Amino acid sequence: MAAYRVTLIPGDGIGPEVTEATRRVLEGTGLTFAWDVRDAGTVALERHGDLLPAATIASIVENKIGLKGPITTPIGEGFRSVNVGLRQALGLYANLRPGKTIVGVQSTFADVDLVIVRENLEDIYAGVEFDTGTPEAADVIRELNARSTKQIAADAAISVKMITPGGSRRIVEYAFEYARANGRRLVTAVHKANIMKYTDGLFLRVAQEVAAEYPDIEFNDRIVDNMCMQLMQKPDAYDVLVMPNLYGDILSDLVAGMVGGLGVAPGGNIGPDSAMFEPIHGSAPSHAGKNEANPTAMILSGALMLRHLGERQAAERVETAIAAVIGAGDHVTYDLRPDRDPAKAVGTSQMADAVIAAL
Ligand code: NAD
Repeated sequence: MAAYRVTLIPGDGIGPEVTEATRRVLEGTGLTFAWDVRDAGTVALERHGDLLPAATIASIVENKIGLKGPITTPIGEGFRSVNVGLRQALGLYANLRPGKTIVGVQSTFADVDLVIVRENLEDIYAGVEFDTGTPEAADVIRELNARSTKQIAADAAISVKMITPGGSRRIVEYAFEYARANGRRLVTAVHKANIMKYTDGLFLRVAQEVAAEYPDIEFNDRIVDNMCMQLMQKPDAYDVLVMPNLYGDILSDLVAGMVGGLGVAPGGNIGPDSAMFEPIHGSAPSHAGKNEANPTAMILSGALMLRHLGERQAAERVETAIAAVIGAGDHVTYDLRPDRDPAKAVGTSQMADAVIAAL
């Protein structure tokens, strides 16, 4: 069996510890990996004078797949976000954010099993903005006011929301392909097309067109505010949810909160040629180097990577093993214990040992 070549970015803070735990669990499945370890973030700044070295990007381009730990964003002017930089450099248009309750993790909801597919590059996040009182904003406002019956105040700040047919098609297709590959029954498009008739209207229209090409998967759509209410009332009525960037940003955190928060929330960023998987939590500097951080989100990100590689069975084994360890409750990090007692908890690395044993 050929080894999977994967770019491994340990990151900083708790990153190296949760990444090492994950590497060992993934190898515990019996699959073989050739890890191409690369720097990004503050470690890269110290070693190479660059937060996001070209060699790191080149490695992901070559291997087509990356697994990344969290990275501390340096405080101060002039630093671009490594995460945004990677997403843009690699054209990672889909943000995949599953939210599944695990028995033993404290959460307000039981039996949640949702997957948010968020468009990652368009919408109001494209970065086309004009500050209040600037000559550029004045020009834009003048032009818009000349063309619209609705008038914009002269001192308004402007952020442009843009949605394209191509961008909408590929994210909705991704959601349907994910549903098909992972045995999911329903895709729901989330939007506000009743108000933003052209941008969200376009997204919805394209979603309906794509849905017609996947007769084996059910489809419906919901207006985003109603979607939030329904997620609180009957989350089990939904399955895969696909939406533009802003709604996806908000709803993916909402769903993460429903299933127990940062410590257990994995993520993936997928592009046409490459993909990168990472937990949604940050580098938690106060826990760094203490072998006490919860590796669950990072391990589940590794399982998402396995699904992306077509190793669905191995992914399910990892997910089942981690659920078994958390369910048993005696080999978990302190944050997964109801009493949060560090004396009764195990470390990051010992929790990984337990997951490997459960595999
Ligand atoms: P954070 O996610 O690092 O921490 C938030 C809280 O959750 C803290 O109390 C932390 O101790 C706890 N926590 C997070 N992950 C945990 C884990 N695995 N186990 C146990 N506890 C955990 O968010 P923050 O404090 O806002 O950010 C810290 C740094 O991380 C910042 O520099 C930020 O920019 C960066 N960050 C990076 C990413 C990324 O690389 N993808 C994402 C978010 C934040």
